[in-house]
Amino acid sequence: MLFDPLYIVLLVVTLAITGWAAWRVRSTYSKWSKVDSGINLDAFDFARRLLDRQGLSHVKIEPTPGQLTDHYDPRGKILRVSTQVADATALSTSGVATTGSRLSVAAAAVIAHEVGHALQDHAGDPAMKLRQAIVPAAQFGSGIAPWLVIAGVFLQITGLAIVGLIGFAAAVVFTFATLPVEIGASGKALAFVNGLGMVGERQDGARAVLKAAAWTYVAGALTALLTFLYYAWLIFGRRD
Ligand SMILES: [Zn+2]
Repeated sequence: MLFDPLYIVLLVVTLAITGWAAWRVRSTYSKWSKVDSGINLDAFDFARRLLDRQGLSHVKIEPTPGQLTDHYDPRGKILRVSTQVADATALSTSGVATTGSRLSVAAAAVIAHEVGHALQDHAGDPAMKLRQAIVPAAQFGSGIAPWLVIAGVFLQITGLAIVGLIGFAAAVVFTFATLPVEIGASGKALAFVNGLGMVGERQDGARAVLKAAAWTYVAGALTALLTFLYYAWLIFGRRD
């Protein structure tokens, strides 16, 4: 299968899509992490204030290592702020760390987005509930299912390959169920930052950061769908 020309095409296309999305999110983030949001709070105080304003004072805030690792944990009701976002709050416009300085546009957008997820969770957002419900099936689908497809095709056990394909379909559905959740959280985030007086160029910057992040989820859904179609072709389409 490694020498299957269609497989090479799939590999190149999916790498191009995910690579482009990853590059875009990093470059947009980097640009707007150098611009002051005008909000005179650090990342943790900003997150606390936004959460409290939304009636989410029960949500805890924790630091988490890495870049673009910020997330909201619906099980633990914890908003985790990446060290990148937390540190970005201490950058002056020259890129030099200063004490008591302010939140960047990028950091404010990311935190507001995660508060958007906390609000979705609290409101019982149906898209978020659906996504949470698919998690176990999606984990099976992205972990074991591709191996079942490949083993089924090689050993010519069509039933096994089809079980794998159905499992992988759950992973594809998960990536698509993620889209309304992510876009919804970004919509809430934009409303938060507008309400805090981030207007004009800063508002455009927050929108650009959130849009770039959304494209990574679109890229994930597209590549999952293309991979699914390739597996389906392996099982049903190839006659040799
Ligand atoms: Zn998100």
